[in-house]
Amino acid sequence: MPVLVTGCTGFIAQYIVRDLLEQNYEVIGTVRSKEKGDTIERLFNNDPSLTLEVVEDIAAPDAFDNVFEKYGSKIKVILHTASPFHFNATDYENEMLKPALHGTRSVLESIKKYGSKTVERVVVTSSIAAIKDMEKVANADFVYTEESWNPITWEESKLNSQNAYRGSKKFAEKAAWDFWEENKNIVKFELTTVNPSMIFGPQLFDENAKGVLNTSAEVINSFLKSGPDADISALKNDFVDVRDVSKAHLLAFQKTDTVGKRLGLSSGQFNGQDLARILNERFPQLQGTIPQVSGDGANKTEPYAKFDNSNTKEILGFPFRGLEETLSDTVAQILKAQGGV
Ligand code: NDP
Repeated sequence: MPVLVTGCTGFIAQYIVRDLLEQNYEVIGTVRSKEKGDTIERLFNNDPSLTLEVVEDIAAPDAFDNVFEKYGSKIKVILHTASPFHFNATDYENEMLKPALHGTRSVLESIKKYGSKTVERVVVTSSIAAIKDMEKVANADFVYTEESWNPITWEESKLNSQNAYRGSKKFAEKAAWDFWEENKNIVKFELTTVNPSMIFGPQLFDENAKGVLNTSAEVINSFLKSGPDADISALKNDFVDVRDVSKAHLLAFQKTDTVGKRLGLSSGQFNGQDLARILNERFPQLQGTIPQVSGDGANKTEPYAKFDNSNTKEILGFPFRGLEETLSDTVAQILKAQGGV
């Protein structure tokens, strides 16, 4: 059964493609240029079950029409992962908000036009950013769940790059649910969103672990370069392993109890002290070059609002990898790829 995956060059999407191919799905993937597509084809050893199509600008109206015209009713499942994830934008509306929102809408509009009777499942990669209310994160007694929504407005989303990313995920996800609600009598598909927290874990291919990494993996890469005296007090979040995120995307369309659900992916909280403790212990060669342990870890202090994703864990039915494993695998690959030990 063919599955359409948007944004195949991405950190998560590469795992999704790998997992789909391993489970004998045919994959139709979109990339932004022929050159990027050639790289992905090479990395996947020109697997004949993987076909790549160029969609240069996901935000353009009708962006995905060509793909649907070509593959028509073959496409039964769509995993929409493509969306800008970085904090380098200066024009927040045009570089972050609009590509995320219009990209999501353009996929859904093409389904309505070409696949209203044939597409069965759609999974949109959203984020914990669409869930978290930043006014509440410092409140240790506050608990947010898969039902929570970030209250950020469009105007607030244009204030800085962090807000722009958070807004881009909130408005894109909301657009997907609104589209489904407004068109559920026209389209056949069921909708699920996957809302991961900060994603760590190794790159699928070692060659991608060099230089500057994708935004979330770069948090670890930067930690390794930050020096022994770096201030890591602001570093805290929920995390999840990329391999578990990929697995969740597949289960999101394979299971029926995921229909209409937001799947909140978090293995737990971490802070800078957790990173320091694990890395100093597991990689003694890094001692003296990375921040030292000087305080409590997130699991001890629990200093901020918690994400209760027990519903998601029950639906998915597999345990998320812990921080030690995720971090060790991430750093071992970075050291190997960058010529360390
Ligand atoms: P990457 O930056 O590795 O991948 C992003 C993908 O989206 C790439 O394929 C990229 O294409 C594509 N993309 C970005 N901007 C555009 C655009 N304007 N038009 C078309 N395609 C675009 O990030 P991740 O794999 O980490 O993220 C994938 C998804 O997961 C995103 O939706 C992100 O918001 C979400 N997410 C990620 C988390 C994380 O911690 N990593 C946490 C929660 C959600 P190209 O390679 O050509 O730039």
